[in-house]
Amino acid sequence: MSHALLSASAADKWLHCTPSARMESVLPDTAGESAQEGSLAHELAELKARRHFHGMDKGAFTRKFNKIKSNELYIVDMDHDTDTYVEYLKDVEMMFSSKPYAVFETKVDYSHIAPEGFGTADSIMIGGGHLHIVDFKYGKTVQVDCVDNPQMKLYALGALKKYDLLYDIKDITLHIVQPRMSNISSWTINCENLNTWGESIKPVSQMAFDGSGECVVGGWCDSHFCKCRATCRAYMERMQRVTQFMDKLPPVLTDDEVGQCLTLAADIKKWYSLLEKYAMTALLEGKNIAGWKVVEGRSNRAFNDIDQAYKALSVSGIDESLLYKRVPITLTDCEIMLGKKGFSEMLADYVVKPPGKPTIAPESDPRKNYNPAMADFAGLESNK
Ligand code: SF4
Repeated sequence: MSHALLSASAADKWLHCTPSARMESVLPDTAGESAQEGSLAHELAELKARRHFHGMDKGAFTRKFNKIKSNELYIVDMDHDTDTYVEYLKDVEMMFSSKPYAVFETKVDYSHIAPEGFGTADSIMIGGGHLHIVDFKYGKTVQVDCVDNPQMKLYALGALKKYDLLYDIKDITLHIVQPRMSNISSWTINCENLNTWGESIKPVSQMAFDGSGECVVGGWCDSHFCKCRATCRAYMERMQRVTQFMDKLPPVLTDDEVGQCLTLAADIKKWYSLLEKYAMTALLEGKNIAGWKVVEGRSNRAFNDIDQAYKALSVSGIDESLLYKRVPITLTDCEIMLGKKGFSEMLADYVVKPPGKPTIAPESDPRKNYNPAMADFAGLESNK
């Protein structure tokens, strides 16, 4: 599927850093497996939504569902997570006094605001002058909030353009359902305020389309996984903040400074790994990265023909029972096989969580402080 240069999902990024969309457009797609997993989950979510709202005979639904299940990226939890989304759609449907007009995976065109801008809205429901847009998010690393969310507002502007004439829309409620982060949020705006916002971003959108303006660093670089981070000079300049601790006395850092340096060093660590990944790809493509080359990493010996090797062992008289180990699958594999719900119903009583090794974390981390005495006690208990 083709994507708009000014995609709604990246709006937070290109509205803040106007050259980013053009800069990213010349780089290869790196989304990989998680994007494919997301597409599959959306396919299933759409199938279930259509069955509920538009009706579908059981056979057709089962055939389509089985096709999705046969995809190697399908996991049992996808069924549960898409159920959460469809249950939420049913709740939204109940907000209307009569059955709303409902469409799914619909193209919305917001090119009157951002040049050549379009996107796909997961779910749109309209009735009684109220437009609802529900976005299903399958990500599990960055929690996305609906309040004042530019992606959702662009979808809404596209939907208004498409449906306002027919439905005389007054208010819009935007919803995000992100089951893997137990995150559901919604936000309402009236048409006038939405259109005012749309007008206000037109000049910036034009700059983003032209690729003009300055690179501006902020939370959007990481939360939107900007593909330019490895080589973006503005992103790199942030690393210089650590130099403020140089050329000072006393000659060793105070503990206060160590705390501040740790925060800055976390950014440097992340940047280094992005840089390393970039250089590895470039070198493997035959490009020259001054002073660096690719070498073979450590590898372990392996049989080139395991059947023949084991045959030789058997022929030599070694008993088969000595050649094979029966190893139980891991707890994580069990959970993937049964899904979170099935796992919890069947095995919750048999699961313990021993204390983890001490690790440092910023003070904002929601976990409790490590307590060595409690950890010793828990260790003794689990050894009983
Ligand atoms: S890394 Fe950040 S500053 Fe650099 S182009 Fe991307 S969004 Fe802009």
